[in-house]
Parts: sequence; C-alpha cells; structure tokens
Amino acid sequence: MRYCLPVLLGGVLLAGTPAHAEAPKLWKAGVAKVCITPEKPMWMSGYAARTKPAEGTLHDLWAKALVLEGPNGQRCALVTLDLVGIERSLAQGICAELGRRYRLPRSAVLLSVSHTHTGPVVGSNLNAMYFLDVEQQQLVADYARTLHRKIVRVVGDAINGLAPARLSWGSGAAHFAVNRRNNKEPNVPKLREEGKLKGPVDHQVPVLSVRDAKDDLKAVVFGYACHATVLPFYKWSGDYPGFAQIELEKAHPGAVALFWAGCGADQNPLPRRRVELAEKYGKELAGAVDAVLHKRMKPIGETLSHVYTEIDLPFADLPTREQLVKDSTAKDRYVAVRAKMLLEQLAAKGSLRGT
Ligand SMILES: [Zn+2]
Repeated sequence: MRYCLPVLLGGVLLAGTPAHAEAPKLWKAGVAKVCITPEKPMWMSGYAARTKPAEGTLHDLWAKALVLEGPNGQRCALVTLDLVGIERSLAQGICAELGRRYRLPRSAVLLSVSHTHTGPVVGSNLNAMYFLDVEQQQLVADYARTLHRKIVRVVGDAINGLAPARLSWGSGAAHFAVNRRNNKEPNVPKLREEGKLKGPVDHQVPVLSVRDAKDDLKAVVFGYACHATVLPFYKWSGDYPGFAQIELEKAHPGAVALFWAGCGADQNPLPRRRVELAEKYGKELAGAVDAVLHKRMKPIGETLSHVYTEIDLPFADLPTREQLVKDSTAKDRYVAVRAKMLLEQLAAKGSLRGT
C-alpha cells in the first residue's frame, strides 16, 4: 500500500489544485459515527432546575470517532460526543477496553464532549445536580452502559476504515461567544453594537481536515471555545455544535464533522434561548470552518505523538461534618444533595478526598 499513495496524490497534483500542492504524507485515517440519542424519555443534563425528563428530539446526538495512523505507524483516536460530560470512571473503563481490544494506549485516546446542555445525564456525572427516582436512575445507568459499548464499537469501525489520507490544518473565527463574567446577558446586544463587550474571549476556530486519496473530504475536526447553552428546553439536541456539524455534513456529503469544545467555560453564546439562535450560531461556525477549508491549509507533518498525564488538584478547605449536616437540609436542593453525598463518603471512607 505504501507506494500507492504518492501515485494517487500525484493524480491530484496534476488536477491542479494549488491549495493542495504540498508533498504527500503517508497518513492513514478512518472515521465512523453512531447515534447516541436516548431511546427512552430520560433526565437531561446541564441544568439543575429541570423538573421532568426529555420530551422529544430536535436533532440526534452522535458519538463520532476519528482514528489517525501516523507515518511512523503510531495510532490515536479522537472520540467526540454530543454530551455535557462523562464521569471519570466511565472514561477509564472505555479507555481500558480500547487498550485491550485495539492496543490503543490511554495517551492515544481523546474522549471529548461538546458540553451540550440538552443531552442526557450520563452515569454519575454531575450527579449532585439531579433528583432521580429509581426508574430514572436505572435509565441513567443503562444509558452509560450502552454508551460505553457504542464508543468501543465506533472506534473499531473507524479502525476498520483506515485508508491513506492527507491531513492539513488552518484557523478561522466566529464571534458569538461572549464572556459571561464581564457582560450582563440582557445588555449584550447593545454592548455588542457599541463595540463595548468586555472580558477575554477566544474566537478562533481551529480546523483539521482529513482528505482521502481522491482528495475528497473524509472528516473535518473543528473547535470553538464557548458553552453549548443556547437551548434550555426539554428536547434532545447538540445545541449550536450539533447544528454546526449538521451543516458541515450537509455541505460535504460523505464527510464526518467532529466538534471539540475549547476552553470556553466563561463564554456563553449570546443572545440565546431560542432554536433559531442555536441554528444561526451553528451555521456561523460551519461557515467559518468552510472558509478555512476553501483556503490554503497547512499540511501536517510526519510524526504522530501523544502524551497523557494526570495531576492531583487539591481542593480548598474541605467542609466539616457539622457544615455538611447543616447543608444537608439547605433550601437549594443541589446543596443538600451534595452534602448528603459527601456525608455518605465520610461515613464509608472516614474522610473526604482532598484532591
Ligand atoms: Zn456548563
């Protein structure tokens, strides 16, 4: 196979696409996706104020995998998920199985969530925020098990699809992210008009393109640093990242679009709360990605390397038992739930985790 790639890419060169005239690199890529929309009306994640399970679907949620094999034979897998978050133990279990089945070391796997606030509760992620009855608890546990199975399968599908590819990158911009610490939400339209929005933002849209031997777009990975919180309602959706992925896959039939959330916890998409706005921001982001795809992009070099490390992050002062007992009857339900959870931890282990 190794000698085929330059020949095929040579054909592309003759076709005269100056933006793609760089020397071919011997990468391989495989991409796959699987629907992860819950099949039953279960609890939604992201907001503590919800009072009932989901009531329908705006658009489907997806788990997508892009597996890359570098010219040096190393492999890595990016898995993107239209979910608010997944718990550490679930991630550990998934990565352990990916290691056993496909010999992907932990450092070669990136599990990335879009942080949509209209996805399901997954396992024990953010579990102090919800008040679930036994039936809902069961649905949440079942969903986590199914998700584990689907992620392992989608990575396997991507590996099975590994084929020669060319990687390149570039960067665009989208401007709907607003620093939510420094600007009052109702004032944002006026502040924006006057050019007076404050606080740090990162409006970059980094893009990785994966093209096959025929130069067709096979996958596009794009990022944006902004909370996926346009929609607060009771329908499953990927929020603006979901719309952006849909737009890109419509514009590039056969390609898979994968979104990863940048460092955007301080950023909200503003104004918000309406489906039209989620769609508008999704289209704006997809447009920024498309503009990059149509420009000359930089080829990715020949070395794939990956690192992974965990650090202990010490908590500030831990609450005392007295404080927890007091908090366990607090008016804020989630303060009470968290206090009860920590009291259980204290009873079982004799102390609270310090990191
Ligand atoms: Zn959030």
